[in-house]
Amino acid sequence: MLAFTGSRLDRADNVRADADALAGLMNWKARLLKLNGLMPEMDDAGALAWSTLADAAEDAELVFLGLDTQDGGSKACFAAVPAQGDASPRMANPQLWSLMATLSADDLALYGGARSLVDWHARHRFCAACGGDTKIGKGGWQRSCTVCGTEHFPRTDPVTIMLVEYEGKLLLGRGLGWPERAYSALAGFVEPGESIEEAVAREVLEESGIVAKDVTYIASQPWPFPSQLMMGCHAVAENNEITLDTTELADARWFTREEVAAALNGDADAPMNTPPRQAIASHLLKWWIEKSA
Ligand SMILES: [Zn+2]
Repeated sequence: MLAFTGSRLDRADNVRADADALAGLMNWKARLLKLNGLMPEMDDAGALAWSTLADAAEDAELVFLGLDTQDGGSKACFAAVPAQGDASPRMANPQLWSLMATLSADDLALYGGARSLVDWHARHRFCAACGGDTKIGKGGWQRSCTVCGTEHFPRTDPVTIMLVEYEGKLLLGRGLGWPERAYSALAGFVEPGESIEEAVAREVLEESGIVAKDVTYIASQPWPFPSQLMMGCHAVAENNEITLDTTELADARWFTREEVAAALNGDADAPMNTPPRQAIASHLLKWWIEKSA
């Protein structure tokens, strides 16, 4: 299963808009996800730690994450919005990555979704239309401006990430500031007015000078740093001469199937290191090796 997918929570959308039903769930049985800022806290068993709503600050905004039906129950799960959103670049915090590596798959998905949502609230306390204060609504799945009434909704930003293939070789790039042997699939945000296919072709052309066609979709994964949806694709290259965009990439090159397989295998003499297993790029590389094995 892809990382950050498979949360066990029932999102219970019908409860969000029903103020009475929501209030009815905010009782002593409800569970509050323990966060330190945006960092997860663990219990003694290495799972996500929970407390009760009584532990939330009196003026805290509470977001309704959903109903946990694990073990046959139906526990309402909430998270409190921290004072500040995520100011650090994605993947910048080694402690977060070591904590996430120990979480079960469904805990990781639950944490990722909660993190994106509470981070969005922490960074959207003012209206983008008029600058007025916004207040939480629909159990945390909306904010409304107290001045002009504009409604704001939690963001998910689409990003394409693509395996570009030319005669059995794969185009991978190394971002600026990445370690020497770290290569991954090219990626970029979808821009307004673009389809997924158009975004793939544009990003590949911009970053590498390669003309990509025949774009097909493989799989997607949420990436909660802060709120991307990674859409994994495959494309066929029409040319193989790389013209590097040095403002985006430190290097890009073609890798053979054997080289990618060796890297996935962790071989010491592999010419590259693969992306972390939580990243969809790792899944895509495995898909590519297996599809023509
Ligand atoms: Zn406003």
